[in-house]
Formats: sequence, structure tokens, C-alpha cells
Amino acid sequence: MIIELNNICKVFGQGELGFRALKDVCFQMEKGEYIAIMGPSGSGKSTLLNIIGCLDRPTSGTYILDGENVAECSDNRMADIRLAKIGFIFQTFQLLPQKSALENVALPLLYANVPVKERRRRAEEALVAVGLGDRLDYIPSKLSGGQRQRVAIARALINNPAVLLADEPTGALDSVSGTQIMELFDELNRSGVTILMITHDAKVAARAGKVMTIYDGVLSDSMDGIRR
Ligand code: ADP
Ligand code: MG
Repeated sequence: MIIELNNICKVFGQGELGFRALKDVCFQMEKGEYIAIMGPSGSGKSTLLNIIGCLDRPTSGTYILDGENVAECSDNRMADIRLAKIGFIFQTFQLLPQKSALENVALPLLYANVPVKERRRRAEEALVAVGLGDRLDYIPSKLSGGQRQRVAIARALINNPAVLLADEPTGALDSVSGTQIMELFDELNRSGVTILMITHDAKVAARAGKVMTIYDGVLSDSMDGIRR
């Protein structure tokens, strides 16, 4: 098991005014799986993904990532785990605007203290792998939305993370670029990358090996949650 969440709750705010964004979420994921979580806006998708991605902590419950109880470790340890085990991609790409594609992709390796020559070599390799070998020196504003998301995917994968997390990866793309990104996900998953994606688009979700739904902070295996 690469990811195991047990009774995860997340409350924003305190006491009477506290808002329960996640309610007793249990979730398991094996290495190599490709899972999509679907839910409407405000259902808790990003809250859940941020906890899984070690960007936020649950209010209660346990989270075991690759054998380690993340919910209990220090902030420093959590940052290390994030760097080593998590690849994150966002709807709006989150690239550094003044940096080239190559520099953006190489950035996590800088934090991991990889020597500069090897950073360049690996970043170039990662960009070639996502079909951007001829765009290494382009800054994000000179790239299309689909190309920017490819840069973000290359950056997310540069450390060989245990899991690739994607928060609405096609949400800001036209349908052709969106489909190309989904084809890239299929290819990555076939080559062994574990992918957890959240989306509100049923067509996008249907490409995953397994689809779960979240509604009002309740995660369920089937469409039950949505119909209630
Ligand atoms: P989704 O990604 O499914 O659209 P979110 O996980 O972003 O939903 O948010 C779930 C609910 O939690 C929403 O009602 C949102 O307003 C609330 N929420 C999210 N983050 C915070 C926060 N930092 N403080 C207070 N409420 C929050
Ligand atoms: Mg969201």
C-alpha cells in the first residue's frame, strides 16, 4: 500500500463555527494504480489532495504514506517527505514565470542538492519525455496551456515521486490540450507511475482505473455519494 488514510477529518475554524470539510475519509491506494476522485465544487477535493500531498495536515485520523505516519511527523520531516515522495500538478500549472521550462523542471533537484550538470541533464530528459525537447529555453508565457501543463508534469516527476497528484489538471485547458494531457497520464500510468487525480469532469475521471466520488466531505467508492 502506498497511501492509506484512516478516518481523516479536516475542520476549518474552531468550535461552533468550525466547518467540517472532510468527514471520516478512508482511502487506500496501491503502487501503480490510477484513481480519479470526482466531486462538485466545494466538496473537499482540494482539501483532501492537499493533505495527501503533505501540504496540509488533517485535524484527526491517520495518514500512512509509503509506510510512514505523516500526520504525526514534524513540519521539516513533512517537507522532506513532500520533496521525496510527492509530485503535484495544479489546474493553473504554478510555474515560475521568469524561468525557462528547463529551469522550472530542474527546480526540485536544486532543493534536493543535485549537482547543476545533473540537474540540467535530468530536466532535459524529463522535458523530452513529455514531448517538449524543442522548448527547453522557453519561458511559460511563450508556451501554450497544454505545453505549460507538460512542463508542470515533467517538474512533478523529476524526483521519481511515489505518487503523482493532480488537482483538476485539465481544468484550465481547451478540450484538445486536455485530451492530450489525459493521453500523457495514460502513458505515464502504463509505464508504472501511480496517479491520483481529482476532477469534476466525468469524462476525464473515466480514464482512470478506478473512480471514487466525494460529496460534502464524504468519500465513497461509487456514485452513491453524489445521488444522496
Ligand atoms: P473543492 O476543491 O472540492 O472545490 P475545497 O477542498 O477547496 O473544495 O473546499 C471544501 C470546503 O472547505 C469548501 O466549502 C471551502 O469553502 C472550505 N475551505 C477550504 N479551505 C478552507 C480554509 N482554508 N478555511 C476555511 N474553509 C475552507
Ligand atoms: Mg479544488
